[in-house]
Amino acid sequence: MISVTKPYLPSRKKLESYIDKIYERNWLTNNGPLVQELTDRLEDYLSVKNLLLVNNGTSALNIAYAALGCIEDLENKYQALTTPFTFVATSSSLRWDGLSPVYCDINENDWCVESKQVEESITPNTAVIVPVHVFGNSCDCVKLDEIAKKNDVPIIYDAAHAFGVNHKGKNILSYGDASTLSFHATKLFHSIEGGAVVFKSKESHEIANSLINFGFDIGGEIARVGTNAKMNEFQAAMALCNLDEIDLITESREEAWNYYYESLSLYYQVQQKDTDNNYSYFPVLLNSEEELIVIINELKNRNIVARRYFSPSLNTTNVYGNDFISCPISEKISKRIICLPLFVGITKEIQSIVVNVLKGIN
Ligand SMILES: *Cc1c(COP(=O)(O)O)cnc(C)c1O
Repeated sequence: MISVTKPYLPSRKKLESYIDKIYERNWLTNNGPLVQELTDRLEDYLSVKNLLLVNNGTSALNIAYAALGCIEDLENKYQALTTPFTFVATSSSLRWDGLSPVYCDINENDWCVESKQVEESITPNTAVIVPVHVFGNSCDCVKLDEIAKKNDVPIIYDAAHAFGVNHKGKNILSYGDASTLSFHATKLFHSIEGGAVVFKSKESHEIANSLINFGFDIGGEIARVGTNAKMNEFQAAMALCNLDEIDLITESREEAWNYYYESLSLYYQVQQKDTDNNYSYFPVLLNSEEELIVIINELKNRNIVARRYFSPSLNTTNVYGNDFISCPISEKISKRIICLPLFVGITKEIQSIVVNVLKGIN
């Protein structure tokens, strides 16, 4: 079975050399030397400051909400303005913390949340704005940051798909009060499980650093209610190996991405101006849900899995809150998108089978 994603495995020899050192030191977690090295190297690679490594991308969101005070006054400030067109973790992390997602519809072209909708949805009950750079395409960050600032509401970007993306001359993680990353095995860059938060302010980073370690401050005093969301040394070792190979990973994905793009003429996500493509996904917009089902089945008959991303539109489930909010564009688009298999090592042979199915050639 060919899946839509395949975790990248870096040089085993290199990984073993890191593991040998872990064995020598017998330091497995609690801000170990590899976690520190990874923090420095990622800050350098991404040109950001105040990066905090955590155990996964969902924790990254939860830690960001807490560090920025978004769950301090749930009685009055309990709404989170967010997109329905995303992976479930964006909404579930909000709900997990007692926040109610208020869904703002997406833009028909770039599939990210429509900034005008966000602006119109702000109320005195708004605790946070959580847009998503869906498939690595940038939100309208400048506008959204402006809206957040004007209304004095924190803004946290779920940048799980946007590793290594620059937008308007700076790294996309520099926008907002914080941005979160996922380093899950299936993501472009991974630490098996893992994630990070990049904070605008040093103070928020410091609070978050305490939150991921049971609420202890640097002096070891219990400063606040915390949790355990630390990254461990084995995760950091895997990520360091992957970071060494990130150019190869990106180039290989770019080649596969371009092969699809040049072979097919379908509807695609419109890239924001001045934004890099990190080739993390290859989503295509089909004409109808019926067509999508036919294509998924045709691919399945050839042992190839293409996945629906993201379906259903989260506003149509009643899991994350009671109020149904209509988001016609997201509802329409989420019925018609599939992501084609894209990973390092995918062969032209497999890609051409996918292309032929999409072209209706059997
Ligand atoms: C993968 C993903 C997450 C969750 O990250 P995990 O590391 O799997 O917890 C959150 N948001 C989006 C948009 C994602 O794609």
